[in-house]
Amino acid sequence: MQDVIVLFGKPGAGKGTRLSEFLETTDRKYNILSVGNMLRQARADNTELGQKAAQYMDAGALVPDDIINGIVIEGIKASAEPIISDGFPRTVGQAQAMLDAGILPIVIDFQVEDDVVIQRARDRIVCENKKCGETYTTNDFKPPVVEGICDKCGCHLVRRPDDDPEVVANRLEVYRDQTLPVLEVMESYGVKVYTIDNSDSKKAKAQFAELMNG
Ligand SMILES: [Zn+2]
Repeated sequence: MQDVIVLFGKPGAGKGTRLSEFLETTDRKYNILSVGNMLRQARADNTELGQKAAQYMDAGALVPDDIINGIVIEGIKASAEPIISDGFPRTVGQAQAMLDAGILPIVIDFQVEDDVVIQRARDRIVCENKKCGETYTTNDFKPPVVEGICDKCGCHLVRRPDDDPEVVANRLEVYRDQTLPVLEVMESYGVKVYTIDNSDSKKAKAQFAELMNG
C-alpha cells in the first residue's frame, strides 16, 4: 500500500487551491481520492461492495456509511500511486474505519480563522457558465478585467448560493461538530498531524511543497 496524505481543514480553508498549485509543480503521479469515483469504479468492477452500493444507488437511496468506507478502503489499498485525500475522512466513523483497516495516513491540517473563510466567501464571484466556473474576487486580489464579466468566456459573474455568510457559518459549525474530532482520533492512533497556517498563501504554498517533497 502506498502513502496516504489527508488534507484536513475547514471548508473554505483553501486546501483545494494549495493542492492544485502543488500538482502543477510536480512530475510525481498521485491518485486524488474521490469517493464518488471510487463508488463508480467498485460498481463497474462488480466487486461485492460495489454490487451492494449499486442496489442503493439504483433505488435512489443513500449508500450506507459502512459500504462507502469499505469501498474507499479497498480503493486505497489497491492504489498503485500515493494517495491524496481532500474530504475523506470527514467523520469520526470514517476515520475509525480507515485506521482500523491499518491505513495510517499523514495528515496536513490547513488552518485559517473563521473570519477569513467568511470574508473569502463574501468576496468571491464565479462564472455562471458551469463548463467554465472561473473564480474571481470583488476585492483587488483577482478582479475580472470588465466588472461582472468572465475574462475567459465572457459570461456573467454571479455569487454562489453556498457562499452566503449564513450558509458558510453553518458549514463551519458542522465542521467543528463532526469533522474536527477526526484529528483527535487520528492522534490517538499515533498519526502525525502537520499544521500549515493557510492565511498566508505564499508561505503556505512553500510549506506544503516542502512537506510533500520532503
Ligand atoms: Zn467563464
